[in-house]
Amino acid sequence: MRDRFGRSLTGLRISVTDDCNLNCFYCHREGCPAGSRRMSPEEIGRIAGLAAEFGVRKVKLTGGEPLMRKDITDVIRSIAETEVSEISMTTNGTLLADVAVELADAGLDRVNISLDTLNNETYRRITGEDMLENVLSGIEAAIAADLTPVKINMVVLAGINDGEIERMISYAFRQGAILQLIELIDVGGGGPSPYHHDLAEVERELSRRALAVETREHMNARKKFILPDGEVEVVRPMHNSEFCMHCTRLRLTSGGYLKPCLMRNDNLVDVLTPLREGMMDEAREAFRRAVALREPYFKPMGG
Ligand code: SAM
Repeated sequence: MRDRFGRSLTGLRISVTDDCNLNCFYCHREGCPAGSRRMSPEEIGRIAGLAAEFGVRKVKLTGGEPLMRKDITDVIRSIAETEVSEISMTTNGTLLADVAVELADAGLDRVNISLDTLNNETYRRITGEDMLENVLSGIEAAIAADLTPVKINMVVLAGINDGEIERMISYAFRQGAILQLIELIDVGGGGPSPYHHDLAEVERELSRRALAVETREHMNARKKFILPDGEVEVVRPMHNSEFCMHCTRLRLTSGGYLKPCLMRNDNLVDVLTPLREGMMDEAREAFRRAVALREPYFKPMGG
């Protein structure tokens, strides 16, 4: 299904919980207001099934920390029963080592693991916890369980970890993982963050070293740099109309609301209530309404 800007809908990003065991100081919490409702695995599966009817092929589980849910394998299993063709998860990796095989067996295809630094002190400063070693074990376990390609998400923070990009590239390539460099998204509304680091220069430097540079059309036109020893992707959403024009995803909050845009909370559409009341036509209508409400947050100048 296409929205009024001609953008197709191919992805659904589901927040399965608001709970997290880390407290990253910059976290946007997927732009979700704290919800009082909690969806069961079966309800999540049914909503994913509806999404598939509207063209969604890829589902990403996020949060909060998805692995805080004890029934996360049931959630994955119920999505795996739908027409969705790829199920992935974004996780902080701290709880991953013990469950990676179980997740893969349930139908999880791959993981993105958030890791901003390889320095214990910096990790504590960013997350408030001392769990770097657990994440490194989680990355190894994910690769061993074939939850691949594993992507390592590094949010680049000025004055905190922006001197660590080369070290992170070497680490990711040694593991056989893809490094995803993410520009900080300011969601506070209080003006630009002092930690914001524009990744334009990093992109130029990677272009110089790359054997090839690809643009991932269905992934917000993000750039992928093929280096001699591995791949680096760069995600630059802020004030980037190109990023928004290539957005193909809808979000589902942990409370069961369809969310057309990370940056907005004024146009959520309740899909859980009609689903719970067995009103499937209304639940489908909620999808149509949410797609109709999709619009690029950052628009081209003059547009
Ligand atoms: N707890 C899981 C995790 O750590 O991956 C899932 C939730 S977390 C919100 C999902 C991703 O969003 C992480 O890779 C995180 O680094 C990224 N993220 C969080 N806040 C961000 C921000 N303000 N700007 C850019 N990326 C952000």
